[in-house]
Amino acid sequence: MKKKVLVTGGAGFLGSHLCERLLSEGDDVICVDNFFTGSKENIAHLMGNPFFEVLRHDVTFPLYIEVDQIYNLACPASPIHYQFDPVQTTKTSVHGAINMLGLAKRTKARILQASTSEVYGDPELHPQPESYWGKVNPIGIRSCYDEGKRCAETLFFDYYRQHKVDIRVARIFNTYGPRMNVCDGRVVSNFVVQALQEKDITLYGDGSQTRSFCYVDDLIEGLVRLMNTENLTGPVNLGSCGEFTMRELAEKVVAIAGSNSGITFEPLPMDDPKQRRPDITLAMEKLAWEPAIALDAGLNKTIEYFKKYLANPESLSGS
Ligand code: NAD
Ligand code: UDP
Repeated sequence: MKKKVLVTGGAGFLGSHLCERLLSEGDDVICVDNFFTGSKENIAHLMGNPFFEVLRHDVTFPLYIEVDQIYNLACPASPIHYQFDPVQTTKTSVHGAINMLGLAKRTKARILQASTSEVYGDPELHPQPESYWGKVNPIGIRSCYDEGKRCAETLFFDYYRQHKVDIRVARIFNTYGPRMNVCDGRVVSNFVVQALQEKDITLYGDGSQTRSFCYVDDLIEGLVRLMNTENLTGPVNLGSCGEFTMRELAEKVVAIAGSNSGITFEPLPMDDPKQRRPDITLAMEKLAWEPAIALDAGLNKTIEYFKKYLANPESLSGS
């Protein structure tokens, strides 16, 4: 019997890659999305598959369907998008978690939450292990996302303890790759698009802040392994250990793209974390997982994607 798997946020960047992966494994996939940051183009190449189904639905409202597994990815992930309607962002994380956990409870489905390294805020401990409780501003402009995701984790663990729901929590660190929205606003897509258009690279602050970038295929592998591992609720960090300053990233992107872009400095947004790198010991031990794709190789694939996209935005479904 095919597993019926629900992917919320399935038309987004990570969600579309996950739907594709699950279909390739023979699952029956239901993609739920309200298309706030996701797009039909991201999943157009899956539409002909009889085991792929799309539902336009907002996870802040209850959903009554029958499923075996749920990946809960619905939530805008880019600061400019999650800050556009911050009340809806918190609702998406919190009401969305309550609704999807309710669905999991009723159907006895296993449910995985796409949590985030943002639960660590602007961390004082480096690299960040899962045991670190974080340093998060509860009233800043990033709080709708950070605190929404923290509250969602609380709900997951309360449903686990109180209602015995079978949960998995992944804390995802910065992930990049093809099908990021060209207007996404996150650093890798911004820099790549700017480099390809020979526009100045927008470096926020002095560019000394760090992030660790995981290529999308590696991340999807980690999510699927976590979902299918027994007796492991998490939280489990999933991300790359290669840490780069934003200035280093800008220089790398310009070099790989063969671009003549210069750099322009813009103000550092409020509460922008100064450093971030996951401790992935737990994922290595319990999931036998670590990223396999180095930043240069991943950037190459991403640059190729955006090159084709910018040349012909209609042409790229499935890339
Ligand atoms: P994305 O913005 O491309 O995808 C999010 C998807 O959720 C979109 O398709 C959007 O339309 C949909 N969505 C938003 N609100 C919704 C709602 N109320 N109801 C239904 N659908 C809704 O972002 P992404 O990078 O693919 O991120 C996917 C998930 O992974 C998010 O939950 C995000 O917080 C988490 N995450 C991503 C990263 C990363 O680096 N990509 C890092 C940490 C966590
Ligand atoms: N950033 C930047 N220029 C951009 C976009 C982002 O310098 O055009 C910086 C941003 O200030 C942050 C880092 O890149 O320090 C990563 O930003 P992103 O929005 O991708 O992710 P997050 O801050 O959520 O990790």
